[in-house]
Amino acid sequence: MSKRPMAEIGPILECDVPSEMPVLPLMSTIVFPLGVTSLQVRIEQSKALLRDYSDPDTLIALVYSPARKEQDIRPEELSKVGLAARVIRILNMPAGNVQVTLEGLRRVSIEEILRTEPYLAARVSCPVESPGEPETVRALVGRILKSLRNLSQLDKTYPPELDNIFSMNLGDPGLFADTVASIVRFPLETKRKIVETLPVEERLQLVADGIDSEIARLSVAEDVVRRTSEQMDKSQREFFLRQQLMEIRRLLGEDDPQEMLVREILDRAEGIGLPRHVLAVVHEETNRLRYLPPASQESGVIRNYVDWLLALPWSRRSPTSINLDEVARRLDEEHFGLEKVKERILEYLAVLKLKNDFKGPVLCFAGPPGTGKTSLGSSIARAMGRACLRMSVGGVRDEAEIRGHRRTYIGSRPGKIIRSLRDSNSSNPVFMIDEIDKMGHDAQGDPAAALLEVLDPEQNAHFIDHYIEIPFDLSETLFITTANVLDYVPPALLDRLEVIQIPGYMDEEKLEIARRHLIPREAKKHGLAATDIAFEDAALIKMLREYTREAGVRQLERAIDTFCRKAARQRTTGYTGNWRFTEADVEKVLGPPYILPDRPEGKAEIGVATGLAWTATGGDLLLIEALKMRGAGRVIVTGQLGDVMKESVQAAHSYVRARAEMLCIDPKLFDEFDMHIHFPEGAVPKDGPSAGITIVMAIASALAEAPIRNDVAMTGEVTLRGKVIAVGGLKEKIMAAHRAGIKTVIFPADNQKDLVEVPETIRASMTFVPVAVVDEVFQHAFAGVAERIAALEARAARRREKVAAQKKAANPKKGSSQRKAAAQRKAARSARQGAAPRRRAARVNARSAASPR
Ligand code: ADP
Repeated sequence: MSKRPMAEIGPILECDVPSEMPVLPLMSTIVFPLGVTSLQVRIEQSKALLRDYSDPDTLIALVYSPARKEQDIRPEELSKVGLAARVIRILNMPAGNVQVTLEGLRRVSIEEILRTEPYLAARVSCPVESPGEPETVRALVGRILKSLRNLSQLDKTYPPELDNIFSMNLGDPGLFADTVASIVRFPLETKRKIVETLPVEERLQLVADGIDSEIARLSVAEDVVRRTSEQMDKSQREFFLRQQLMEIRRLLGEDDPQEMLVREILDRAEGIGLPRHVLAVVHEETNRLRYLPPASQESGVIRNYVDWLLALPWSRRSPTSINLDEVARRLDEEHFGLEKVKERILEYLAVLKLKNDFKGPVLCFAGPPGTGKTSLGSSIARAMGRACLRMSVGGVRDEAEIRGHRRTYIGSRPGKIIRSLRDSNSSNPVFMIDEIDKMGHDAQGDPAAALLEVLDPEQNAHFIDHYIEIPFDLSETLFITTANVLDYVPPALLDRLEVIQIPGYMDEEKLEIARRHLIPREAKKHGLAATDIAFEDAALIKMLREYTREAGVRQLERAIDTFCRKAARQRTTGYTGNWRFTEADVEKVLGPPYILPDRPEGKAEIGVATGLAWTATGGDLLLIEALKMRGAGRVIVTGQLGDVMKESVQAAHSYVRARAEMLCIDPKLFDEFDMHIHFPEGAVPKDGPSAGITIVMAIASALAEAPIRNDVAMTGEVTLRGKVIAVGGLKEKIMAAHRAGIKTVIFPADNQKDLVEVPETIRASMTFVPVAVVDEVFQHAFAGVAERIAALEARAARRREKVAAQKKAANPKKGSSQRKAAAQRKAARSARQGAAPRRRAARVNARSAASPR
């Protein structure tokens, strides 16, 4: 390669560059024709190149490479257009780096990379730079000059006469574009494009667009800066003006409204005797308020916060002593029955009284709706002379609902606990937290955890709401929680609770509650005298059975309310007498009955077993149907069952299959028939294991084609080995059976202890059959078992007698040896005959599906 010095300095118009040139790859800079640039060279290959071409005025090609590191430079990725440049000076720098000063001369096309070692070299040619349409070129140059003027105004780091500098090069539009591009701070990519663009018109366009986007960028940035500083100036000005205004008002003897507000707040704070630490916060906040414009958002936030601080009952306490006699009297006066519950409540309060603090487990009333949980709580509060607060956490999913949002959030406010306390006007109320079994949780946190902190006597002396931020003492608050079903109470919470079960009422109890409490109370509520309204027993029973199927008395209360409304209406029209509503009136006032009473099947049926279910509203009959049909041994289950119940069906089916022989069921049936088990009232979801024995009975009955007694109801969980184990809610289930006119209840022997809860009158009128294994259920539940056994035994006896008589008639006299042989034969025969009826009896019994004894 020849080292050819340039003849003259200036633009090269002819292609007077050598056809082969060493190539210096550029990674972070672009050099334009006529631009003088200094480059720091760190790449080893490039240093080698400069060592060989160190003479001033030698020509090398500068070519852009998109690589970011030396080792990533690939010849095929190099730009196809480079720049011939003249070496002006080379300086050796510390750390082995080299600084080279170059002058860009003209564009060259890289035709072919000839070598890569020891440095790159390429065959080059001089490309044609087409000048473009003169009119357009002129217009573009004009646009660029105008934009340059704007640019120098927006960015003061450019010289103010930028456009003047460039107007000198107007004779060569291509060079003009290059010069502008080398001075304006375009992004690297834009510069690369400009170098690589050969047609002059296109290059000018790129430059014009580049300047415009630079101007746009600078104007946005300037806008932001201007607005920020305007904001700062405004608030500073306002602060100073406000200070001056205060001073002027002071001199004039006038009051500043903001100052008046602050003073009013402070007076109130002193007046209500806020604790010292709260008062300090109020002072701090009002001091900030003084210097804020009244209409500002921040001022509103502070006023709201201070209002909360002033409204909370920090040290307003109700009497703390507990008068147990008064509580007992109130509970008795306001609630019928519930003896055990009242006793437990009094015991709990007695312990609190003796200990003289509230550090202990929290009471939890658990039971179906309308059983008096809330009303017990408010009776306790009244008897203790304390405020009664109620808060429901049903459906609460967000921890902030309990503990509040931080003040930084827009629209933030304290949580439910603090909001309820504000309304109570007392720092030690009776606080009822309802529906703790219906809390949810999600990504916003677990409300149960927040509630735990509230209920924990060790922590709640310093309960901190996120909004209030000052600890509130809840240690003297008497918390009472309520739940319908304990299964859904979070276990950690349940652990802290002292649960008192309220099981629900029987009809007799409901009648008493209605007569003694609901009717007089509702009458008074409607502006009538307590004695104005009465109901016949039959009317109340009809309401209970056909209008309100519930464990509590809430719907009954509502029904009585309807009667009272009608009566009140009549009173206003001039009626002055009393009312005594009869059974016939019920339908007139409440409309047609909407609950059909539970009834057992009309007669013993094959494949229908009567079970007993426990629901949140009490007990219910649960019929279970089983049907066999030709198929391939599948088990189909319908009736909205939960997983546990579905598994019970599988277990029951397996159990019946295992006992097929004893039940006299042909084992082939299990493979040749499908079994469909249906739980009617398909729209009602059902779950739980307590239907186990009922399902076994239904399946066994369908397969053995033996009917099940319709006057027997049953409940009990079954294990795979046929053991019957204990279930819940026996009292409610037995009461449901009684209501439906069922005479016999089969239940797990393990549950026998629960029978004491069943009222004496019901116990006396029903038969209870405790069972420990399923085979006992077969014996008691299949229809006609005893009759069949008796009939079979009688038939066998008759046949024996007949055969004996025939024998006697055939052989009136025999010798002693003959008699002996005959006696032996007879013994053997009778042994056979005796066994046959027994076997047959067993088979028939099993058909009706029970073992004889
Ligand atoms: P819960 O909180 O259990 O859902 P409530 O306490 O609201 O039920 O009771 C519903 C209505 O029934 C209330 O008016 C209550 O006074 C009344 N009530 C419930 N049980 C009794 C009872 N044993 N004696 C008197 N009234 C009762």
